[in-house]
Amino acid sequence: MIKGSCCCGAVQFELTETPSMMGTCHCSRCRKVGASTLVFVKSENFRITQGRDQISTFKAEPPYKYDRCFCSVCGSALGEVLSEGESFPVVANCIDSDLEIENQFHEFVSEKPCWLKIGDSAKQFAEHPKF
Ligand SMILES: [Zn+2]
Ligand SMILES: [Zn+2]
Repeated sequence: MIKGSCCCGAVQFELTETPSMMGTCHCSRCRKVGASTLVFVKSENFRITQGRDQISTFKAEPPYKYDRCFCSVCGSALGEVLSEGESFPVVANCIDSDLEIENQFHEFVSEKPCWLKIGDSAKQFAEHPKF
């Protein structure tokens, strides 16, 4: 079982399967909420085990589409953990277990701050890649 939690531990979640994809978004919105590296999980493999009622959501306004869930106690960005979609992004930094997966892409590198140097060889895209 893969376990994850927010900084203060109020919110806990589990994954029954290693996510199939990990990517890093350098857009200004992800940067500001501290949620750059994300794993994409299937809802059937994801379960919030504690603190669902502590999760707040910063709703996306068009053209943005990802709602930003965060712990209302400590502020940790969690990803789209309250999504009702089949799959959704979860913030990789909140996962406590080691993951047998590497970052597979960087998106919105055009919005990356100049002081941040990308240190892996994953593919880079100026905007959102089409898979
Ligand atoms: Zn917390
Ligand atoms: Zn982003």
